[in-house]
Amino acid sequence: MTIKITVWNEYRHEKIDKHVGDVYPQGIHGAIAGFLSYCEDFEVGTAYLDQPEHGLTDEVLNNTDVLIWWGHMAHGDVKDEIVEKVYDRVLEGMGMVFLHSAHASKLFCKLNGTKTGRLSWRDHGGELERLFTVNPGHPIMNGLPDYFEVPKTEMYSEYFDIAQGAELITISWFPGGEVFRSAFTFTRGKGRIFYLKPGHEEYPIYYQQEIQKMIINGVYYVKPNCDMTQVDYRVNIKLPRK
Ligand code: ZN
Repeated sequence: MTIKITVWNEYRHEKIDKHVGDVYPQGIHGAIAGFLSYCEDFEVGTAYLDQPEHGLTDEVLNNTDVLIWWGHMAHGDVKDEIVEKVYDRVLEGMGMVFLHSAHASKLFCKLNGTKTGRLSWRDHGGELERLFTVNPGHPIMNGLPDYFEVPKTEMYSEYFDIAQGAELITISWFPGGEVFRSAFTFTRGKGRIFYLKPGHEEYPIYYQQEIQKMIINGVYYVKPNCDMTQVDYRVNIKLPRK
């Protein structure tokens, strides 16, 4: 089984902020693609905002089973026609993984069905985050403990404006007493979507094993479960008359 993955990143903050560039010298997409490429099943490519068509040409999307999305300061620069195109791909079965501040991306909001994906947040130089598993039977928690901690993170808190009915996987706790639905999945059309909160650009969170494991499990979980080349979701199926 080969799963073709494209890791998409805004890739701007790394270039203008030395600290962020030092944490992720190859870009956040480079760090994520790096650990994913250790998995034999994965064929990994990358794309970023300032490439033509944001790196998401038809050729790239035709070769993508799972798209991973990281963005935070330039959601508005993502062209609507690209959002539409990727949205359609998800309905056809392409898997999506949204990381961290991708909750406010046009694509996440459109798929989720809420307008802003808003939440409360605080970045005070790195706080502890403890992720509690609330769904131990979920495939994304395979090999993960009942809880684990990210030592330095940006705090995200409820209320988080997501559609009701998401399948919750973890809830995060922060020392200020805040809680947050930090990992969940939902489906749209034939596509499976996974959101995972940790991944603020100032801290080396994508080098942490538990986070890498959740992303790897997430890729397996959202990968298309049917051969998309054989199925056209636009075709109306005629049922026999009784
Ligand atoms: Zn952040």
